[in-house]
Amino acid sequence: MSSPNDASIQDAARIARAISHPVRLQILNELREDGAYVMHLTTVLGRPQANISQHLMVLREAGLVRAIRDGMTVLYEVTDPQVLTVVDQLIALARQRAGRRELASGEADGEQGGGRRRRRRGKCRCPRCSQKARPGRHGRG
Ligand SMILES: [Zn+2]
Repeated sequence: MSSPNDASIQDAARIARAISHPVRLQILNELREDGAYVMHLTTVLGRPQANISQHLMVLREAGLVRAIRDGMTVLYEVTDPQVLTVVDQLIALARQRAGRRELASGEADGEQGGGRRRRRRGKCRCPRCSQKARPGRHGRG
């Protein structure tokens, strides 16, 4: 039986605390596709780098993400895909509840433009996005 002093219970609480911030949920969501550069996160989330770095540090200390040096910049990625499963579950739960609320208030209308992505990748100048932006060649480096 697991007691509240069980090390894994303590760690689970630590992970939950690290995840429990809207910006950090967004960050984890962005790291889904092979991670992301800090510059990318600041552009997509529209927040100053100092703020993003702070949140990344919390996630790092909880062991949820790791930093990989890439030349002049740093790429972040999740340490375990299971982290994203947890994030997905939380978001799914929230959406389900939002749907229920709307049903209750009689505003259910089938489609709720929730699936729209507001990514401003065009403006991002992180190594990955600027590579994608270049037309034509499929160079291998
Ligand atoms: Zn980018």
